[in-house]
Amino acid sequence: MFSMNLILLGPPGAGKGTQAKIIMDKYGIPQISTGDMLREAVAKGTELGKKAKKYMTEGKLVPDEIVIGIVKERLKQKDCEKGFILDGFPRTLAQAEALDRIMGEMGKKIDAVINVNVPEEEVVKRIAYRRTCKNCGAIYHLIYNPPKRPGICDKCGGELYQREDDKEETVRERYRVYKKNTEPLIEYYKKKGILFDVDGTKDIEGVKREVLDILSKLSHP
Ligand code: ADP
Ligand code: AMP
Repeated sequence: MFSMNLILLGPPGAGKGTQAKIIMDKYGIPQISTGDMLREAVAKGTELGKKAKKYMTEGKLVPDEIVIGIVKERLKQKDCEKGFILDGFPRTLAQAEALDRIMGEMGKKIDAVINVNVPEEEVVKRIAYRRTCKNCGAIYHLIYNPPKRPGICDKCGGELYQREDDKEETVRERYRVYKKNTEPLIEYYKKKGILFDVDGTKDIEGVKREVLDILSKLSHP
């Protein structure tokens, strides 16, 4: 059966969340953002949130076993049957290997890994002006993708805020963590023959065209 089990790979601020929402709207498959799930847990003050908070504020990775556990549970949900878009997971080799095991247990596989390439200076610029909706998670950029009314989400009227970990100093730390722990996954998926590179420095529409082009070839080989 045709499936669309996708991973969006790339540094923080590359545009993974932005493209994940575009794919979700077009193909009707859910975006699974570990960052969003962890932020929700922190906001609600759950046990998980209490454990994750310190790592997130410092721009460090939350320990593998915690993140793997939440993804494993999420992938079992019914809405993942026809496919899913992993955004921000896996971020370490141990997470990638665990994901392979989880997929094997479920009789599934990852169909494509889309690697969004953006250099550090551009990432810093993007994140400095990122605003996120508190209510629905929509992503804006004050210059490249501004909301129609300042501080208010176009989609749901929710309040826009700046993430605590979006300060320049923390962004640079997150980028270092990406280089060390996550970038090696490019090679991991290249070897499996499922890696597709896109030029993330184009504007949102330009990146969208590249991404949708890859996905249309997957669905109509
Ligand atoms: P990630 O999920 O990879 O951390 P986001 O999708 O949140 O990245 O995007 C980071 C910021 O950059 C947001 O403010 C978003 O509006 C903006 N952005 C995303 N894609 C592009 C693009 N292609 N060109 C310019 N800005 C972009
Ligand atoms: P993101 O929203 O993807 O930018 O993630 C925000 C923060 O959540 C990261 O800086 C990490 O602290 C944590 N996080 C999200 N996903 C993962 C993951 N797969 N592994 C470890 N930590 C994660």
